[in-house]
Amino acid sequence: MTHVFHRHCHSNLPTAATGDGPYIIDTQGKRYLDGSSGAAVSSLGHNHPAIISAIKKQLQSIPYAHSGFFTSEPAEELAQWLTDKAPGDLNRVYYTSGGSEAVEAALKMARQYFLEQGESQRQYFIARRQSYHGNTLGALAVGGNQWRRQQFDPLLSPVQHIAPCYSYRDQRTDETEAEYGLRIANELEQALLTTGPEKVLAFIAEPVVGATSGAVPAVPGYLKRVREICDQYGILLILDEVMCGMGRTGSLFACEQDDVVPDIITVAKGLGAGYQPIGAVLVREQLYQAFAQGSGFFQHGHTYMAHPTACAAALAVQHTIEQDQLLSRVRKLNKQITGNLNEMFNEHPYVGDIRGRGLLLGIELVADRETKQPLPAGSNIHQLIKQCAMQRGLMCYPMAGTIDGKQGHHILLAPPFILTNTQ
Ligand code: PLP
Repeated sequence: MTHVFHRHCHSNLPTAATGDGPYIIDTQGKRYLDGSSGAAVSSLGHNHPAIISAIKKQLQSIPYAHSGFFTSEPAEELAQWLTDKAPGDLNRVYYTSGGSEAVEAALKMARQYFLEQGESQRQYFIARRQSYHGNTLGALAVGGNQWRRQQFDPLLSPVQHIAPCYSYRDQRTDETEAEYGLRIANELEQALLTTGPEKVLAFIAEPVVGATSGAVPAVPGYLKRVREICDQYGILLILDEVMCGMGRTGSLFACEQDDVVPDIITVAKGLGAGYQPIGAVLVREQLYQAFAQGSGFFQHGHTYMAHPTACAAALAVQHTIEQDQLLSRVRKLNKQITGNLNEMFNEHPYVGDIRGRGLLLGIELVADRETKQPLPAGSNIHQLIKQCAMQRGLMCYPMAGTIDGKQGHHILLAPPFILTNTQ
């Protein structure tokens, strides 16, 4: 009997024992190729010597010092590194222990930013139906994944959800990709006008939707139009790059490829690549200054924020990605893997779409590829696929996500950046 309260009470999980590059080996000696980096986390695999040695070094100097009393060298260096690389004037870094915490902090930051300027009437967020921003109550409220939020709806504050940018399902035959992007982005303007722009804090979206729909990138131009609308109506743009950031899509930040600078970016997963739990919120200078010159205090914080060992691990992860030129590796592997997937599944009756950016790839499963009819809601095909893959020694991330409010099924592939061609 296990005393761990696992998320699936009745599953019989193998016990992970050791790591070997992109493989996890269980206590029975069975090897699993990590085709999804867990949940798009382990971008450097499972036993990278440079990261392990950076963690050991930090543990031998100062493992932890509460951020209310001290800063630390790794926290300062990582913030410097991130802000040097980030687009625009995203000059300040607020640390968290993971993705939901990062989103939660971003939402509260948006609220306090406007309070600092006397705009207390602003209290609403606009988000998208097809999105996942985390499981804590604030993050869950902005998320649009019905399966994840349904039971907790009464606890969630009201959020207006608009259409996702999901060309496979929603682009009309009589419009170009650019026209589609514009039409869908303009839904934000409609939503603002319905709520009253003066009451809205921010719009939040994932540049490449991950866990809800299996790697759906926005079409070119969509985020640019979103940025324009946010500027026009004076609301903040929060891009959630918890899954798609930190190199996963072939650039450090996914929004670089959309040529858009948001007011706030949240990152996590690939930041520490699983070697330590860490997330971060990158904030534009002007936002930070509203706090610095206003109350001088952000009314938020967690015990483990800016954890020195987590920051040291993340710094080593990011240095390794840079030194080993792994972003170009991500782009190359994208071509190879999507080529392979297309060859394997192009004719498959239940594969509707193969898509993604970099090493954030998705396969959408359908009942009928011609009509794009989703598999029946309630189907547990995703659990079966996961089991079958695990039996064969492959980790992938199949899920029951959301297609415009209804359940849809996808498989997410997000292998480590260090994968070799044969692996
Ligand atoms: N935001 C996005 C886009 C995510 O994909 C996730 C997790 O999958 C989260 C937030 C929540 O992150 P965490 O599970 O680290 O709390």
